[in-house]
This record gives sequence, C-alpha cells and structure tokens, in this order.
Amino acid sequence: MNYTGVRDIEVMVIGAGQAGLAAAFHLRRVGYRPDRDFVVLDHSPRPGGAWQFRWPTLTYDKVHGMHALPGMELTGTDPRRPSSEVIGGYFASYERAFELRVHRPVSVTAVREGVGGRLLVETSHGDYAPRAVVNATGTWDRPFWPRFPGQEAFRGRQLHSAQYEGPEAFRGARVVVVGGGTSAVQQLMEIAPVAAGTTWVTRRPPVFRAGPFGETEGRAAVALVEERVRQGLPPRSVVSVTGLPMTEAVRRARESGVLTRLPLFSRVTPTGVAWADGRTVDAEVILYATGFRAAIDHLAPLKLREPGGGIRMEGTRALRDPRIHLVGYGPSASTVGANRAGRAAVRDIRRLLAGEPSAPAAGDPGLPDSGLVSASVVSGGPA
Ligand SMILES: Cc1cc2nc3c(=O)[nH]c(=O)nc-3n(C[C@H](O)[C@H](O)[C@H](O)COP(=O)(O)OP(=O)(O)OC[C@H]3O[C@@H](n4cnc5c(N)ncnc54)[C@H](O)[C@@H]3O)c2cc1C
Repeated sequence: MNYTGVRDIEVMVIGAGQAGLAAAFHLRRVGYRPDRDFVVLDHSPRPGGAWQFRWPTLTYDKVHGMHALPGMELTGTDPRRPSSEVIGGYFASYERAFELRVHRPVSVTAVREGVGGRLLVETSHGDYAPRAVVNATGTWDRPFWPRFPGQEAFRGRQLHSAQYEGPEAFRGARVVVVGGGTSAVQQLMEIAPVAAGTTWVTRRPPVFRAGPFGETEGRAAVALVEERVRQGLPPRSVVSVTGLPMTEAVRRARESGVLTRLPLFSRVTPTGVAWADGRTVDAEVILYATGFRAAIDHLAPLKLREPGGGIRMEGTRALRDPRIHLVGYGPSASTVGANRAGRAAVRDIRRLLAGEPSAPAAGDPGLPDSGLVSASVVSGGPA
C-alpha cells in the first residue's frame, strides 16, 4: 500500500473466466505470488466466468469444444449436467488447486493512467496501482440488442438470449427468434416443441458446417477475426465465424422446417414483426440471440480505441499502451484461444516489467503448456 491508500502490485488480472485463470496460472508459474505480486478480481458471485450464467438446458454435451485450463484436465463429467455446474465446479477446483485467490465479487470501474508509470485500477473494493493489466472481462456483460423501429410499442415480451432460462417460459407462445449463431439454433430447437409457432430471422443466410471442425478450420476462423482487429475494427467472436455445426438434432430440425430462415424484418409492430414487402408475423415473444460485445468500458479512460471502434493489438498487447493486455478478446475469444493468450500475455508482461524488448507476437515456445501440478477433477457442483 502506498501513502495514498492505493495498493502497489505488479500485475492486475481483471476477470476470472477461462482467459483470466489461464493468465493467473502462468503468472504463478513464472514466480509471481498471488495477492502480493498479482491480484485477480472478478465481479461475478461464483467461479465459472460467464459459464455460471448459461441457461440450465445448455448441458455439457451441447457445448462445442471446451478446452481444459492449463495444468488440470476436466475429467469424469456427466454430459447431461448443465455446463454451468460442470464448468463452475471445475473452475472452483482449479482456483483452489493453484491457489489463485480470486477476489469476488469485486467490480473494476475504471483503469486510468496512474503515477510513476503505473496504472490506476479503480474498483468497488479499493484502488490498485499495477505496472501491467491483463484484461480478461469477456463479453457476457454486454449482450448486443439490435435496434428496430417500433420496438418500444411491442405488447409482448422481448428478451436477449443471455436471459434465456429454458423453453418453459415460451409454452403456447408465438416466438420470433433473431440471430444466426449457435445460441439461436439451440434455443430455437428447444422452444419449437412447446411453442405455438416459431419464426427464425437472420441477417445473412446461415452457414451449416457439414465436415469436421479441425485445427485448419479453427485457424482460418481465428485469422478472420485477427484481420479485423489488425484494422482497428471491433472484433467478431471466433464462435460466430466458425459456422453452425451440423448435428443429428440440427438435421432433424431442418427437415421439420424449424430451421427455415427468413431475412431480417424491417420493423417491430405492437403485435409482431413486419417486412418492407408488407409481410407480417404475429408474436407474443421476440428473442434476440444476437451475440455480445467486448465488456471493456472500464478501459475507456486509456483511450485505446481506434476510429473504427476496435483496439489494435500486437499479440495480446494493446498497441496504444503496452501495459495493457487483452486476453479472450477478438482472436482469442474461445476457450483454446483464451488459454494461449493468457500464456502469451504473461510472457510479454514479464519482458516489459524486466525492461526487455517485447516478444514477437506468436510462436514463442518460452513457456510450456503443462502445469505446476497435474490434477484431475471429477465433476462436482460448484464449490
Ligand atoms: C452461449 C455461449 C456458448 C459458448 N460455447 C463455447 C464453446 O463451446 N467452446 C468455446 O471454446 N467457446 C465457447 N464460447 C465462447 C466462450 O464463452 C469463451 O471462449 C470463453 O469461455 C470466454 O472466457 P473469458 O475468460 O474470455 O470470459 P468470461 O468467461 O466471460 O469471463 C469474464 C469474467 O470477467 C468478469 N468481469 C467482466 N467485467 C468485469 C469488471 N468490470 N470487473 C471485474 N470482473 C469483470 C466476469 O464476471 C467474468 O467472470 C461460448 C460463448 C457463449 C456466449
């Protein structure tokens, strides 16, 4: 603590989802001590990052490719259990095993320039002055709501997929689902059997992926997002550019007509939605499965954004301020990407704090992937 009541530390990790925990793991691994050299803050009530909020019907067998955190496998899971419980329990065990000492619920309200080359991190529980920040705040806190004329006058219910809690609430209703991603497809398939009718509306025709999704396809998806970030544009999520997986359930839903898609409507009416050509659909509920944006408003005082609205980066480092690393942002917004980015950020921050030149953006084998301990966890409820 310095004389102003602000606590000096080396590194602040904001967010304890996949990305923040991976970064914290690597910080420990290279010798930083939790609560002394680095501090991890998270404003959610429990371990699990955004997974703790995912709807109960999103069982573990429905998530498509969850990568384990570095150093501890996720084993013995029951595929029928909600992923929120499976992953919440796994993250809780992980935090304990590696003594990461996540402080929660603590909200970071602003990161700004501090004194003596340090940053100032303002939180709901006091201020910190780190020399570097790993920002791992994900997207869950910023659901994206598209705007349509007439929305305010709609007499039914409008909700975002982040508020979805399972199909029961839609029983007997006519439902319009907006959005072309995995959440839209999964929620539509759950709602259709109990609803009075469903209509699926997407901006672009959805692309279903017939073949397997291997490393080559993954790399191509990441490259697309990387290109946007390089241009200083707001990133699309990696998951949004991977295409929709063609499962057996999806095949059946397509055959039954549930996944017959209409183009985006032009306005919302008091009783439904309407297209420019005069066509209308009546509905009691509009569900916006329209994705999320990066939850980075607290970084605004640092003015990292480019005119295009995104933050340009070199690896995980913000070009405008090398003390700020974004993990789980843009190209690393997947569980495997978050792991890699956590490791790369720590490698770079170590060099920065030692006064060495920055690392190349990719391909540095400096830190191995394996962990301090190799524990496995049998899934239990969140601790
Ligand atoms: C419905 C859905 C399904 C998905 N399925 C998959 C999948 O199957 N496979 C896959 O690889 N990826 C999937 N993804 C993407 C996946 O969520 C991410 O890859 C990854 O889990 C995100 O990890 P994260 O650590 O970046 O963010 P999060 O898990 O969102 O963690 C961010 C943490 O930061 C905290 N936080 C945010 N703001 C602040 C603040 N101001 N102060 C303090 N704390 C803060 C939050 O409380 C949260 O705990 C899915 C995404 C969605 C929305």
